[in-house]
Amino acid sequence: MQSYQQQYLKEMGIDVWVDRDKAVANAVEESTTSNTVEQTKPESVNKTTQVFPEALSKLQQEVSICQNCELHQTRTQTVFGVGNTNADWLIIGEAPGADEDKQGEPFVGRAGQLLNSMLLAMGLQREQVFIANILKCRPPNNRDPKPEEVVACESYLRQQIGLIKPKMILAVGRIAAQNLLKVDTPIGKMRGNRYQYPDSELPVMVTYHPAYLLRSPREKRKVWEDLKLAMQLFREIS
Ligand code: URA
Repeated sequence: MQSYQQQYLKEMGIDVWVDRDKAVANAVEESTTSNTVEQTKPESVNKTTQVFPEALSKLQQEVSICQNCELHQTRTQTVFGVGNTNADWLIIGEAPGADEDKQGEPFVGRAGQLLNSMLLAMGLQREQVFIANILKCRPPNNRDPKPEEVVACESYLRQQIGLIKPKMILAVGRIAAQNLLKVDTPIGKMRGNRYQYPDSELPVMVTYHPAYLLRSPREKRKVWEDLKLAMQLFREIS
């Protein structure tokens, strides 16, 4: 394990016991390879004002004026998604919260910071992945999405997936996992299993939502298990 991963695991609140010699060896390896957080410079992304390639940009425009469900009446703006438009990893959450609705970018609040730490523990910077939600508009008072809202938004996510062509999806949280995979299995039972995005061969792995981890920090260890499994599957399919 690289030392930057240990650092982010620590930020996630996960103690990692390492052999002192190995830790030194890792530090040396890290300083002599290009596979470090510092050195892996992904394409630069200008947060909320990200300019997308043409097809995604058209889709973003369409989403920005969507009135397919009642959420358009209460949103400040739509939250299309952000990140590397050629990403191998697509991270899918539930729906924008208050911060995301204000800033127009997914996962920018405290849960977003924890998501960034989860990604860094996987050796990924936020800008290397693409991050989107099941819903593009904030449900008032952060209530759960209604089934008709999920249906109204579904084709946008499907089109995003078609254009970005990720190799893997990581669904974070029950709402994302159940709606993406059209199941009602409890998330605790979904963890550890490999799924496929409906009507495709695209692998989907599931873990807890970072907002849940903020409330239940003890579950972080389980999340690290999920992330390791997802990384292992990613290596197998790459
Ligand atoms: N929670 C989510 O599921 N998505 C966001 O964008 C922010 C918080």
